[in-house]
Amino acid sequence: MQNNRVIGIIRRSIVPRKSPGRIYLEYIRLYLIYNKKVTQIKLGNYDMKTIVTGGAGFLGSHLCDLLLENGHEVICIDNLVTGDTRNIEHIDSDRFTYLQHDVTKPLYFGDRINYIFHLASPASPIDYLDLPIQTLKVGAIGTYNMLGLAKEQGARFLLASTSEVYGDPLVNPQPESYWGNVNPIGPRGVYDEAKRYAEAITMAYHRYHNMDTRIVRIFNTYGPRMRAGDGRVVPNFINQALRGEDITVYGDGKQTRSFCYVSDLVDGIYRLMMSDYAEPVNIGNPDEMSVLEFAKRVIEVTGSDSMVVFEELPVDDPKVRRPDISRAKEVLGWEPVVGLGDGLRETVGYFRKCQMNRA
Ligand code: NAD
Ligand code: UDP
Repeated sequence: MQNNRVIGIIRRSIVPRKSPGRIYLEYIRLYLIYNKKVTQIKLGNYDMKTIVTGGAGFLGSHLCDLLLENGHEVICIDNLVTGDTRNIEHIDSDRFTYLQHDVTKPLYFGDRINYIFHLASPASPIDYLDLPIQTLKVGAIGTYNMLGLAKEQGARFLLASTSEVYGDPLVNPQPESYWGNVNPIGPRGVYDEAKRYAEAITMAYHRYHNMDTRIVRIFNTYGPRMRAGDGRVVPNFINQALRGEDITVYGDGKQTRSFCYVSDLVDGIYRLMMSDYAEPVNIGNPDEMSVLEFAKRVIEVTGSDSMVVFEELPVDDPKVRRPDISRAKEVLGWEPVVGLGDGLRETVGYFRKCQMNRA
């Protein structure tokens, strides 16, 4: 894998065919690049140039794999705040560029970008509780910067939003038409409101600037390359079970979640980007279960003799969550195909290998 963090050449001409205002902006841009205040990178000579922000994270790295399989040139942008270059070290392609960059800072490309998948954001509750300001900044300023880049490049833009925009929902399952029940000043508000703002600014760019945008509302997704210590229920339970430790169920374990395997999820995201649908679309697996039931499934699949213990429920933890995927079925012809048993076996295999490598 080559690290193409190149500050450099601007292919685009700064002369004529533009209004005096545009030329002035180009000069400012050149000044900023020259003074290393913004990053400019130069790409290869392929069609379908595609940016994935958050590309060294769990979902982003799987999306990079899928895009490369589908012939895209991929520019993976990440500041590694919760991601890891080990998630992309298997990629050996001259259509792949990794750029370490914080998307809350501006970024310019001399080449034409066709697609931007904006996934950068802390995603697990312990990450965003640990990084509240970064989470708000990447949802607000990061999304603004990436929309600006998409507008300048004429690129199609996809926002990775979340089921958390529904908060602690009073409607189950959640259709896209539900406006949600969010506590803006609770600890989870930094994530929920950042994503709600990100959706609002994406729709504003779509309506006001006529931009081609997509919004995916992702429900709990799991699979290989989740961070073992990211605190989410899937890596927690699997790693506890593999180590023979107690399985920590928060609250009484009656709260529900619906778990989607990562290959289904990235397939849905890709279909959405390639569709012509600008309204939000839920992507997730509607197979709903309680957290306690999920703990039992993990014990079964791992063959562990771990016991379940009950710990305090985090503040504002949603009591139910299940996607209504009628829209995804109708608009994208998408529905999940990987069952929980198969998905869990793959994920357990991954974490088992990680534990063996560490031992
Ligand atoms: P992750 O933490 O593995 O990946 C997020 C990536 O974004 C990391 O690599 C991180 O380093 C990067 N990042 C964060 N801030 C950045 C910044 N300012 N500049 C550049 N990179 C930055 O999490 P994930 O589960 O892969 O989530 C990816 C996206 O999907 C997030 O936007 C998240 O909100 C959304 N999502 C995920 C789930 C899920 O179940 N995995 C559910 C709902 C929404
Ligand atoms: N949870 C749990 N034990 C853990 C981690 C999480 O019982 O060790 C619960 C958590 O309280 C929530 C559900 O599992 O009800 C899913 O939590 P996760 O952090 O994966 O994501 P969320 O769906 O809350 O965003």
